[in-house]
Amino acid sequence: MRLVRGVVQHYAWGHASAIPKLLGIEPDGRPWAELWFGTHLGGPSRILEIDESVIERTHSAVDETNGLSSPLVSVAGELPFLVKFLAAAEPLSLQAHPSLAQAQAGYARENRLAVPVSNSRRIYRDPFAKPELICALGKFEALCGFRDPTETVDFLHDIGGGASTIATLLADHDLAHTIQFIFTGGEEFQPVLHDVIAACAQHDSASARWVVKLARAYPDDPAVAATLLLNHVVLQPGEALYLGPGNLHAYLSGMGVEVMGSSDNVVRCGLTNKHVDVNELLATVDPKPLADPVVRAEPVARTSAGRLWRYPTPGAPFEFFVHQIDGTETIRARARELTMCGVGTTDRLQRGEVCFLQKGEELTLNGQATLFRTTEP
Ligand SMILES: [Zn+2]
Repeated sequence: MRLVRGVVQHYAWGHASAIPKLLGIEPDGRPWAELWFGTHLGGPSRILEIDESVIERTHSAVDETNGLSSPLVSVAGELPFLVKFLAAAEPLSLQAHPSLAQAQAGYARENRLAVPVSNSRRIYRDPFAKPELICALGKFEALCGFRDPTETVDFLHDIGGGASTIATLLADHDLAHTIQFIFTGGEEFQPVLHDVIAACAQHDSASARWVVKLARAYPDDPAVAATLLLNHVVLQPGEALYLGPGNLHAYLSGMGVEVMGSSDNVVRCGLTNKHVDVNELLATVDPKPLADPVVRAEPVARTSAGRLWRYPTPGAPFEFFVHQIDGTETIRARARELTMCGVGTTDRLQRGEVCFLQKGEELTLNGQATLFRTTEP
C-alpha cells in the first residue's frame, strides 16, 4: 500500500478548522479550502512507499516534502481525475464547466490568439472537460442547476419588488433569454438588481437570504440576482451533486469529498474577483431546468463486513464509490484507484488519509470506516 500525501490549497473561502480537524491536527490560522490528491500540476501529490507502520503518522495526509516521498506520477502515471477534501466557509464563484468539445475548441482558439496559459484572463488552460462530483461529509449547501421556470416565476413574484420584473420576463420568454438579460443588461440592470436585493431582505427563504449575503460582498454583481433562478440544495452526508457540462453552480458552505476530471477549465460568471467572461458563460451554460440535482449512491455489492455503492457519473473520466466497512474487508482495485478514508478509521488507512492502488492490487483493512474510492472507468 502506498500512502498519498496531499497538497493543501489555502484559498480565501476555505474553512479554518474543518480539514485540520479531519486530519487530527491543530488549525494554523489560515483557511484550508482544499486538500488535493492526484497528479494535477497545480498540486501534484507525493507518495510514501516505506512501511508506514514505523513512521510518525501525524500529518501523513499532508505534503511536507521530505526525503521519504516521491512523486505519485512516477508510480501511477498521469491520473485522469483529481480527488479532494473541500471545506468552504464562504461561497465559491458562480461557474460552469465546458464539454470536451468546447474545451478542445476553446483551448485551440486561445492558443491561436497566443493567450499565455498563465494569463488570469485565459479560460481554457487545457483541452479537457471538467465534470465534478461533490459528496457531502456533513451538511453541504449549494446552488445547482436551474429550478423549473414555472416554480421560479411563482417564487420571484412571492419575493416581489425587482424580483417581479425578472418573473415577468421569465414568464414571457425562457431561461436562456432571462439569463442573457441579467448578465448583459449592464447599467440598465443595476436598478433592477438593487430592487431585487432590497426585496430579498424582506423575504424569508434560503435563496433570498443568500442573495442578501452575497450582495454584501458583491453589491453590483448581476450574478447575485441570477442565483434566484437556481435550485438551492442542502445535501445531507452521503448525498452528492454531479456537475456535468453546462451546469451552472456555486458551492455555498460545508465540507465534502470532491472528484473531478483533471482539468482547470472553469467559466466564471460572478461572485468572484477572478476573471469573468459573460459571453463564454452564455455559450457554455445549459439553460435546461434540472428537477432534482441530488445524486444518490446505488448499491453494488454487499459482504459480511462491507457495503459498496456507486454514484452515477455519466461521461466522467472516473467512477466514484462509497465503501462502508465494519470488520475485516479486502478491497481490490478494478483499475488505478485512489482510496480515501473519510469517516471512521481502520488499522492501515486512517481518517483523512488516502492511498493509491494499482489495477488488481488488493488491500485488507480492519476497522469501522467510510471509504471513498475513485477509479478509472
Ligand atoms: Zn465547478
